[in-house]
Amino acid sequence: MSQSVLLLPGDGIGPEIVAEAERVLHKVNERFDLGLQFATADVGGAAIDAAGEPLPSKTLDQAQKSDAILLGAVGGPKWDGLEMALRPEKGLLGLRSNLELFANLRPAILYPQLASASSLKPEVVSGLDILIVRELTGGIYFGQPRGVRELEGGERQGYNTYVYSESEIRRIGRVAFEAAQQRNGKLCSVDKANVLEVTVLWREIMNDLAKDYPEVELSHMYVDNAAMQLVKAPKQFDVIVTGNMFGDILSDEAAMLTGSIGMLPSASLNAEKQGMYEPCHGSAPDIAGQGIANPLATILSAAMMLRYSLQAEEAAQAIEAAVSAVLDQGLRTADIMSEGATRVGTREMGDAVLAAL
Ligand code: NAD
Repeated sequence: MSQSVLLLPGDGIGPEIVAEAERVLHKVNERFDLGLQFATADVGGAAIDAAGEPLPSKTLDQAQKSDAILLGAVGGPKWDGLEMALRPEKGLLGLRSNLELFANLRPAILYPQLASASSLKPEVVSGLDILIVRELTGGIYFGQPRGVRELEGGERQGYNTYVYSESEIRRIGRVAFEAAQQRNGKLCSVDKANVLEVTVLWREIMNDLAKDYPEVELSHMYVDNAAMQLVKAPKQFDVIVTGNMFGDILSDEAAMLTGSIGMLPSASLNAEKQGMYEPCHGSAPDIAGQGIANPLATILSAAMMLRYSLQAEEAAQAIEAAVSAVLDQGLRTADIMSEGATRVGTREMGDAVLAAL
């Protein structure tokens, strides 16, 4: 049965980098006989310009019917003056909530060829390959009640609620255990169970789930220690699973270990493994239209899409190997340029990945 992919180029460098990922997807579609069907739609600023809203119902409808979505980036100064509800970012948030994308997968991979881009010593980070699985639709960012209230005496108090139901913990836990199964079989659950009851429950459920995945070695770590260990000895981790807020912070910390934002893919999945895949960076309006953006984060997002939503592991690995081969050849876009390397633009980088495939 054929599977459908919706491409949402978005704004800024989005169309340039998605175009390269699209060429790569067409190539593996042919080579591995995947039977993928492609469609393209507007989101973000591009949709505001074309249809007056950041997530037109036609785009949402296409997204709901597709097996996977590849997004470039949204936003830019052109739309910064619009009211909140009409801003390009609402297009992204709307897709996340409508598709119930509760699992955010953020790999932090440091290709040995780019070890000098990290602010940490090469021997600490070279070859780093971590996957952070962050719960994306629950926890303290969404818990009720929330707000700012006035106490007796007139002092104001801000408050939020940190809640996770058993089913929410279980479903993100399963995604993480399954990811660990596909990788090195090591899962570290990060919590604050010495202080927060909600994470005592989190830890209990993770331990319970572990019985279903005997081949995965589960460990637990407090979030403050995890933050330290990530900069001290990051290669001790394989898969990390954590809640929304801790994951927000730790995934950015892990991303920065690699030092190159143009290389980092991400995935957001729902219970049906339908997913939205996008680079971790934004629309880079400062370099849009110049043909110099790094397309590799988007190309690697396409590889994640093949792995997690389209059951095409072999094609995913072929793309990842091609990216590594291109780095071996010394080809670099401006953002990852180093001494002695050959500087290339967006299209040439895409050409090189295609050639390596
Ligand atoms: P950004 O990630 O777009 O850019 C930060 C810096 O990194 C810039 O100097 C940019 O040129 C560079 N950069 C980013 N991606 C690159 C790539 N692939 N190749 C080479 N260089 C790259 O972040 P920002 O400047 O804070 O935000 C710009 C716009 O993007 C804003 O409108 C913001 O709201 C939006 N944004 C969108 C997303 C998203 O769509 N998921 C995420 C973050 C920011």
